[in-house]
Amino acid sequence: MSVRPADYPAPWSASDAIAPPTDPVDERIDVGVAIVGAGPAGLAAAIRLGQLMEEDPATAERLGEVPVAVLEKGKAPGSHLLSGAVVNPRALQVLFRGRKRVDEMPFAGMVHGESVLFLTKRRAIPIPTPPTMVNDRNFVVSLSQLGRWLSEEAESLGATVLPETAATQLLVDGGRVVGVRTGDRGRGRGGEEQANFEPGSDIAARVTILAEGTQGTLTSAALSRFGLASEQPQVWALGVKEVWRVAKPLDRVIHTMGWPLRAGKKYREFGGSFIYPVGDDMVTIGMVVGLDYRDAALSVHDLLQELKTHPSVRRILDGGERLQWGAKTIPEGGFVALPKRFHAPGLLLCGDGVGLVNVPALKGIHYAVESGRLAAEAAWKSFARGASSRESLASYDESLRKSWLWNDLREVRNMRQAFGRGFYVGGALASAMTVTKGNFPPRDLPTERDAEQSLISTSRASSYPAADGKLTFDKLSSVFASGNRTRDDQPNHIRIAKRVPREVAELWTNMCPAHVYEVPDGAVGADGLVEVQIAPSNCVQCGAITAKGGRLTPPEGGSGPEYTLT
Ligand SMILES: Cc1cc2nc3c(=O)[nH]c(=O)nc-3n(C[C@H](O)[C@H](O)[C@H](O)COP(=O)(O)OP(=O)(O)OC[C@H]3O[C@@H](n4cnc5c(N)ncnc54)[C@H](O)[C@@H]3O)c2cc1C
Ligand code: SF4
Repeated sequence: MSVRPADYPAPWSASDAIAPPTDPVDERIDVGVAIVGAGPAGLAAAIRLGQLMEEDPATAERLGEVPVAVLEKGKAPGSHLLSGAVVNPRALQVLFRGRKRVDEMPFAGMVHGESVLFLTKRRAIPIPTPPTMVNDRNFVVSLSQLGRWLSEEAESLGATVLPETAATQLLVDGGRVVGVRTGDRGRGRGGEEQANFEPGSDIAARVTILAEGTQGTLTSAALSRFGLASEQPQVWALGVKEVWRVAKPLDRVIHTMGWPLRAGKKYREFGGSFIYPVGDDMVTIGMVVGLDYRDAALSVHDLLQELKTHPSVRRILDGGERLQWGAKTIPEGGFVALPKRFHAPGLLLCGDGVGLVNVPALKGIHYAVESGRLAAEAAWKSFARGASSRESLASYDESLRKSWLWNDLREVRNMRQAFGRGFYVGGALASAMTVTKGNFPPRDLPTERDAEQSLISTSRASSYPAADGKLTFDKLSSVFASGNRTRDDQPNHIRIAKRVPREVAELWTNMCPAHVYEVPDGAVGADGLVEVQIAPSNCVQCGAITAKGGRLTPPEGGSGPEYTLT
C-alpha cells in the first residue's frame, strides 16, 4: 500500500491563526500599518512608507504615534534571513531612487563570471548558461546583512522595528483584518507561565501587510479565510547552505545540476547547487531540492555534504573553514500557484508568502522588494482623506499585474511543473517554454502537492559521507553553526500527527536538516504505526515540515537561528 504524508495531517487549522481582538481597547497597541516580517518584502514596505511620510507629514500625523511597526520573530533583523544570494538590484534601485546608490548598498561584489556545470560523481561538464540563469550585472549579497541594513534604513525613516516579536494570530473583526496578536513569551514546555512570563498583545492596525516569507502561518490562514488561494497548490524546495572562509578567491558564480541527485522519474528529484563568491575570502555553497521528492531516505543536508566531496567542489573549499550553516524553504509553484487576489479588507500580502519567486532563475529578493514597495503605496493611498480603503487596497493587485515582476513570472509559468516529469523530459519542456516566453504549453501543467507524493524507501542514506568535522558535518553541529540557542523547555511549535507509518517518520527524520525528529528503534505499535519523538528547540524554522504534512507555527519570539552571514 502506498504511503503519503498527506494522509497523516497535522493537528492544525487556519482558524487556529485567526481570532477577534481580545485586549480591552485602552490596552491595545495602536499603529498605522503593521508589517509582519522584516525580510526584503516587509522592510521595503516600511522604507517606502517612511519616504511617503517624509513627503506628506500631515497624513503621517494622522497615523498616530507609531505610524509603521515591523514585527520580526528573529532575535534581530536578519537573524532569520537566509538566501543564496545573487540579487538583481533593479527593485532596490527603484526603491531608493535619488536617495542611495548601488555602491552604498551592502553588496559583497558584482558577478563577474558564471558557469553552469553538469556533475557526474567524478566529472564536471560545463554546459551553456540557460537564459533564465544569466546573472550579468547582478550582485552577491548576504541576505541577513542586507536585512540588517534595510532595517536601519526603515528605522531612520520613522518605522519602529520590533525584533523578538512573533505575530501568532491575524485579528479579524467583522470580516476585516484589524491587526495581529503577538505571541506570549516565557512559557514552559507544558504551557505554564515562568518567572519571566510576558503575555502577547493585540496590535491594532489600519492596514496589515503580511510579509512573512516562505510558509508564513498568518499568510496561509489569510489565504484560506478570505478564499484567496489559487486553484493550483503551492509547492516548495528546501535549501541548505553553508558559508565558508576560503584560502583562494572564487572568480565566478557556479550552478550545478545532476549528481548527487538522481535523474530517474520515480525519484522526482529536482534541484541543484549554487556556489557564490562572497568577496575575496568567502564562499557560500548550497543545495536546493524540490520537496515533491519521494524517497524517505533523502536528506538535503547530507546531499550538500556529499556535493562537497566532488573533486571540483572540494578544490574550492580546500584549506578553508566553515563559518555558518542554515536552511530554508523556497516556494516553487510559480505563476500558476499565485493567489487569486493579493489583498483582503485591511490586508495586503507580499513576497515569498504568496510565492513571488522565479524558480528557474532562483530569484525572489527583487520580487519581494518590489511587492513590498507596491503594497506600501496601496496602503498609503487608503489613508488619503475620503479614500475608499477597499479600492485603495485593490489597487495593489492592479499594480502587481502591471509590473515587470508579473511579466517575469508569467514567462516561466510552468517550468517547475515540467520537472515533475523527470529531469530530461522536464529539461526539454523548459527549453520550449523559454523560447516561447511562457506561451508553450498553451494549457498550464498540473501541480501536485509535495505531501501527496507516495513514498519509496531506498538505501540512499548509506552513501552519505560520514562527518569529518572539516569538510563534512553532521546535523547537530550544523544547528550549532546556525547560532540557534533556543531554550529546551520552550513550548513545542511543531504540529505533526503523533502516530504515523514508519515511512513517514523516516521521511521527516531524514528531511529535517536540524535533527528535530527521531523514531525510537523497534517502536511499531499494535496499530502498525510509530510515535515520532521531537526536539523542537533544534528547529531552524526552515518550513519543510509544512510542505510534507506537518505544520511549523511561529515559535516564541527571539528563538531559532541567529544568522549573520547567510
Ligand atoms: C537557499 C536559498 C537560496 C536563494 N537564492 C536566491 C538568490 O540567489 N537570489 C534571489 O533573489 N533569491 C534567492 N532566494 C529567494 C529569496 O531569499 C526570497 O525570495 C526572499 O528572501 C523573500 O523575501 P521575503 O521578504 O518575502 O521573505 P523572507 O526573506 O523569508 O523574510 C520573512 C521574514 O519574516 C519573518 N517572519 C515570518 N513569519 C513571522 C511572524 N509570524 N511573525 C514575525 N516575523 C515573521 C521571518 O523571520 C523573516 O525574517 C533563495 C532562497 C533560498 C532559501
Ligand atoms: S522541524 Fe524545523 S528545521 Fe526541521 S524541517 Fe521542520 S521547520 Fe525545518
